[in-house]
Amino acid sequence: MIPIARPLISEEEKQAVLAVLESGQLAQGEKVAEFEQEFAAFCGARYAVATSSGTTALHTALLAHGIGPGDEVITTPFTFIASANSILFTGAKPVFVDIEPETFNIDPNWVEEAVRERRNKGGRPKAILPVHLFGHPCDIEAIIEIAHRYDLIVIEDACQAHGALVDGKKVGTFATGCFSFYPTKNITTGEGGIILTDSEDVAERARMIRDHGMRKRYRHEILGFNFRMTDIQAAIGLAQLKKLSQWTEQRIKNASYLTEHLNHSPFIAIPIVRKGCIHVFHQYTIRIRGDRDRAVELLKARGIGVGIYYPLPVHQQPLYQNLGYNDSLPEAERASREVLSLPVHPALSSEHLEMIVKAVASLEGEI
Ligand SMILES: *Cc1c(COP(=O)(O)O)cnc(C)c1O
Repeated sequence: MIPIARPLISEEEKQAVLAVLESGQLAQGEKVAEFEQEFAAFCGARYAVATSSGTTALHTALLAHGIGPGDEVITTPFTFIASANSILFTGAKPVFVDIEPETFNIDPNWVEEAVRERRNKGGRPKAILPVHLFGHPCDIEAIIEIAHRYDLIVIEDACQAHGALVDGKKVGTFATGCFSFYPTKNITTGEGGIILTDSEDVAERARMIRDHGMRKRYRHEILGFNFRMTDIQAAIGLAQLKKLSQWTEQRIKNASYLTEHLNHSPFIAIPIVRKGCIHVFHQYTIRIRGDRDRAVELLKARGIGVGIYYPLPVHQQPLYQNLGYNDSLPEAERASREVLSLPVHPALSSEHLEMIVKAVASLEGEI
């Protein structure tokens, strides 16, 4: 079976972990500081604050911006649950708006519509939390423009988009950006996350929230958490970061191959890359015009480890239904029924890619 994702761990990561284990400094220390510096430099941000996961990065970033009970945060329903749950953790309310069918990302037109509507109804929209889904940047420039006009905070969920660019600028640096280093992401630290910001104040608050509200040892100024990354994780991250550009190139090459060879199958829609954007292909996600679930079964039977991201939009999850959400968001709902992700990761061989193309072509007449 060709897996949908595979972490690439080499001798370098193993040696880096051993060195940390032998140093005696296992928890947050110099390696975390070094990883923060390197990741900030790679993306072109002033400050980076490493955390225990992408989820805790999002939670911390929202808190560092003062988001809390009574606030509303506009976000996408077509994402991993953590994007929206991070808003719930703060006591604020997620407001879902529909997506662009071409990129699967939040639609800025609906964002503006929601800001106006919530304001007219006495709501308190305070922030926008867009996601750069599958590694394709969302229309962040339009979102930043709306945020300026309505005085809103922006938190970018870049957990799937390490190194993606819009007009030469890395995602996660347009506003406060959050990344994940879970093993299926474009680089990993096992578990881990990071916040990028150009604001010294936001960075300072994020550091305190991550470490029990401390600036000075055992002086607790605010309510914080233990959301720290360990030096073991950071050492893995430093080794991975060196390879990120090369891996991204390989993902893009693999995607080009798939796009070129799948292009002629009438029952699928291939992913697009918008002008000015670099798509880093965390996922290569197609739409199936036919019986999607049957296509999944057949591809798996033919050795292709496909994924469905995501089979149920967030507003239709039992958790959110129980909270009273009953939105109708037709593009997100349709995407959930039609999407299918094919392996695109850098560990694929040319034989794997040929197998994938053949397997997809063989669906003709069967779905
Ligand atoms: C992975 C992911 C997260 C959460 O990251 P974890 O490290 O798993 O906590 C949040 N948002 C999106 C879009 C993700 O893909």
